[in-house]
Amino acid sequence: MKILVIEDEQRIARYIKKGLEIKSHIVDNAEDGQEGLDMALSESYDLIILDRMLPELDGLTVCEKIRQNQKSVPILMLTAKNQVSDRVEGLNAGADDYLGKPFAFAELLARISALGRRPATSTIQELTCGDLTLNLQTYQVTRGKTQIELSRKEFSLLEFLLRHQDQVFSPEQLTEQVWSYDSDVLPNTAQVYVGYLRTKIDKQFPKSKTLIQTVRGFGYKLAAN
Ligand code: CA
Repeated sequence: MKILVIEDEQRIARYIKKGLEIKSHIVDNAEDGQEGLDMALSESYDLIILDRMLPELDGLTVCEKIRQNQKSVPILMLTAKNQVSDRVEGLNAGADDYLGKPFAFAELLARISALGRRPATSTIQELTCGDLTLNLQTYQVTRGKTQIELSRKEFSLLEFLLRHQDQVFSPEQLTEQVWSYDSDVLPNTAQVYVGYLRTKIDKQFPKSKTLIQTVRGFGYKLAAN
């Protein structure tokens, strides 16, 4: 998933980003409420982790403004304040869940996966395309009975393509969706990674259908036919 973390305490922001990236999520950071709101409204995220106490704009206001703009992205609010009244305020402002600091990372992950799969996909653990399967719990990727080893970035790219099968994406769109804004991305990075994935999921299986297809002049799509 692509996740925006709006948190001014750098130590906590880094801790969350690092932990989520290990789980193959793509993470952008914003350090104050205004920056976070701008990013939330201009980019598309699968989830927002929002600290309540922020410089420039506080978390409650950010949350309200995101909802006023008709963005239905799940929002998990973080806070040191963990009184019942504060929770109610957060939920009233449009947050979907609330987590008090300090928190155990395992709990954050559990909340994220509950929120992340709430829309559309209730109990999805596996994504498939033809005989290709990606397991979101074990991080295993297989084609037929053969296991495929992917790097973290290849896994994220494949997960994105599996979630949006039959849709064509330009390299620029893939870069926007699968890489965080602060990563070192060259103009051809997405093409290079599509190439790596092709080698691993298609070229190694010459007798199977080609899943990653080039749509000339537009980009790429993942499709079983
Ligand atoms: Ca804070």
